[in-house]
Amino acid sequence: MSASTPSYLIVGAGVFGASTAYHLIKKYPDRQITIVDQDAYDADSRVAASWDWNKVVRADYDDIVYCQLALEAQDVFKSDPLWKPFFHETGIFWICRSDYAQEVIENYRKLGRQADLQAVSIEEAKKMFGGLFEDANYDGVKEVLVNKTSGWAQAGDALRAVTKWSLEQGVKYVTAKVGGLTFDESGRCTGVETEDGGKLSASHTILSTGAYTAKLLEQAAHKSGNNELRAGTRIVAGGITTGMTTLTEESYKRFANMPVGVQGYTAAYGPFIGSLPPTKDRELKWWGEKIFKNTHEVLPGRFVSAPPSEPDYNQWNVPGPLKQDIDHANDVFYGKNGAEWKMEKHRVCWDAFTTSSDFIISPHAAAKGLYVATCGSFHGYKFFPVLGKYVIQMLEDELTPEHKEKWAWDRERPAPSLNPDWPRFEMADLLDSWPRAKL
Ligand SMILES: Cc1cc2nc3c(=O)[nH]c(=O)nc-3n(C[C@H](O)[C@H](O)[C@H](O)COP(=O)(O)OP(=O)(O)OC[C@H]3O[C@@H](n4cnc5c(N)ncnc54)[C@H](O)[C@@H]3O)c2cc1C
Repeated sequence: MSASTPSYLIVGAGVFGASTAYHLIKKYPDRQITIVDQDAYDADSRVAASWDWNKVVRADYDDIVYCQLALEAQDVFKSDPLWKPFFHETGIFWICRSDYAQEVIENYRKLGRQADLQAVSIEEAKKMFGGLFEDANYDGVKEVLVNKTSGWAQAGDALRAVTKWSLEQGVKYVTAKVGGLTFDESGRCTGVETEDGGKLSASHTILSTGAYTAKLLEQAAHKSGNNELRAGTRIVAGGITTGMTTLTEESYKRFANMPVGVQGYTAAYGPFIGSLPPTKDRELKWWGEKIFKNTHEVLPGRFVSAPPSEPDYNQWNVPGPLKQDIDHANDVFYGKNGAEWKMEKHRVCWDAFTTSSDFIISPHAAAKGLYVATCGSFHGYKFFPVLGKYVIQMLEDELTPEHKEKWAWDRERPAPSLNPDWPRFEMADLLDSWPRAKL
């Protein structure tokens, strides 16, 4: 391989990083491709948002770009032998308080896609799927979107299998925490330095570091003196609580083939809440409605939102007020039917958000050789099979003008208040109210 052959260092082995490695090794089997992540790809517990029991895989988007992209990804999930075992086509039951259902149906029509999807009245919806959602909250609801072709993926299992496949093809995996970036005299990024003192270099360094990205860029700016490296308001780390109950054998029979449930709200109220069908271990999962920042001083005088600094982001130590968020989620989906369920497992999952919920797949404007591919903004998992294809297009300056603009590092960004999923709380404020609430 000549010195001018491109080489790739991908920081972060979530869906953005793993998909990039997967597509790179397929396209360039002889090039040097390395992933570095603080957690082993097959560790029992990881901090990645992409590492999870399950994630919703749907193309039910009012934004036609993501609708199309999700359909492309779903086609892979449904047909490719590597991906297929992890996808479950259970359908989705989306309770809509806006025109969302009609917008999704219209997008499918515009894209010429046939699918078993319809908008149904509340009365009709309550009777579907054996009446599982008969006692859900329908306040302010217009209609319910039912798309039988949507579903969910065994998220962590798929992530591990696809990463393993890429390693077998020649991708190298280094388990280490990255503490900074390295630059040559011209300011070009040459790679990373790890907290254990190691150095890794490549012609292309791609940050797919999820919720940690803004903090890492602060560290790099501090060390290099190049303040333009900072993410500023472009990227904000947000946390969301998830919780699970283990269904009894009896209730499992009723819920085993349930669709994904979504309670949709408008931006004035807040984010959508979800309930995922039980895993093979009979565990039914929710995510809550509180999305929060964790703004703290990451370097002297520098305050950004980042996950807690413990090695596991303290993700399993979930305080009471956040657990209550899952009780609320249970109530708005199942009402009296779920009232007796015990919540056994809780986790706070961290992701990187942009105000428009668009990804950033872009060269970093402040250093040649440095690229950003992350910001799933609470919806990135489902695109796992195709994300890397677009990252390569970005690296080779072949993105369509529409994608290039949408995913750019520098672009106009809407006000956060327009985004229902924007992290609108501070974690500390949610926890502060805890002792008072107990009085
Ligand atoms: C509760 C919750 C539910 C969600 N549900 C869905 C869903 O149903 N469907 C859907 O499509 N999307 C969903 N999402 C969104 C989706 O999970 C994310 O958008 C996506 O997984 C982000 O992928 P990523 O690769 O950018 O980041 P991550 O998956 O977080 O991966 C980042 C990786 O970078 C590594 N890393 C970070 N910093 C460093 C460092 N300094 N050194 C070394 N390694 C580092 C981490 O260890 C991690 O492995 C959900 C998100 C959350 C939080």
